[in-house]
Amino acid sequence: MSEKRDYYEVLGVERNADGSYIKKAYRKMAVKYHPDKNPGDPSAEEKFKELGEAYEVLSDDDKRAAYDRYGHAAFSQGMGSSGGAGVDPFDIFREVFGGGGGGSGIFGDFFGGGGGGGGRSMKRRGSDLRYDLQITLEEAAFGTEKELELEKSSACSGCKGSGSASGGGTKSCSTCGGHGQVISSRGFFQVQQTCPQCGGSGQMISDPCRECNGAGRTDKRERIKLKIPAGISEGSRLRSSGNGDAGMRGGPAGDLFVVIHVREHEVFERDENDLYCEVPVSFATAAVGGELVVPTLNGKASIRVPEGTQNGTLFRLKDKGMPQLNSTRSGDLMVRVQVEVPTKLNRKQKELLEAFAKSLGERNRPIHESFLEKAKRFFK
Ligand SMILES: [Zn+2]
Ligand SMILES: [Zn+2]
Repeated sequence: MSEKRDYYEVLGVERNADGSYIKKAYRKMAVKYHPDKNPGDPSAEEKFKELGEAYEVLSDDDKRAAYDRYGHAAFSQGMGSSGGAGVDPFDIFREVFGGGGGGSGIFGDFFGGGGGGGGRSMKRRGSDLRYDLQITLEEAAFGTEKELELEKSSACSGCKGSGSASGGGTKSCSTCGGHGQVISSRGFFQVQQTCPQCGGSGQMISDPCRECNGAGRTDKRERIKLKIPAGISEGSRLRSSGNGDAGMRGGPAGDLFVVIHVREHEVFERDENDLYCEVPVSFATAAVGGELVVPTLNGKASIRVPEGTQNGTLFRLKDKGMPQLNSTRSGDLMVRVQVEVPTKLNRKQKELLEAFAKSLGERNRPIHESFLEKAKRFFK
């Protein structure tokens, strides 16, 4: 993969720039590099893509925080095969500049084709949707398939999404007379604006479908299947193409973005691809050494605790951590031992321990000795 430029550098903003400043910077640059303005210039297209990606990350607080912490590595596990954050730069552009419309429609509006009109299509792209999904650490580790249930607009079954009962008929919009624009007066000024009746298309459906009132879509509860890849991390965003709101009157559907939240685990704590867990070890085993059974994501494993193991010692189990996304590698499992001090000793046991302590005297206390060395002046 070629090296990526710093997102802040791409947008030409300081690292502490606030959201509105970042948006402004994006607007300025995106207009300059939009492919419609630079036909046949692949470098402008590249730049436009890069801008979209940078804005996508820096305009989202969570993503921006992740980027500030981990840089591009925060997203390099990538949801898309394109290697980027899997975003459509045209979607971003539409989002920032507002409005629906497919392809160059919005762009034509933006640069103002100068009055006239009726050029806009009646079709509108559906909105993108967000769904927050909780999964367990095991599901994140091994991957899974989930069925999401959500309320969203779907193509109307009565008219197959066209909005027209007969499947064809459109007529000139009565509000704007087919121009797509209306003039309204505000005080001394006359303002030209997009016709609210037809949304600028200049056309209306002559026989609106009864089920959807001509919109071509209705709200429904739907079930959507989603594959969760193994190794996914907290805050990742999966894109389910075309599963956002249905378009208006046959326009393309938006996308569904699923934000992953990994629940805390009772035993394991995750740090990127490594897992940590604490396992108690008896006082006697820690002293003389022995086998210790430890949990892993794949069941039990056993480790050899050497003689003289101190409380808090970390043992590394290679490749027993979380799988890496899109890779055959895995992180490690780090086991921290907790040496247990026995409670409720009977008289016999106490006597044995006292005899043991006497035999040890002040010798053979490795931590105590180094502690005394450091704290000399307090123990004169
Ligand atoms: Zn309908
Ligand atoms: Zn109209």
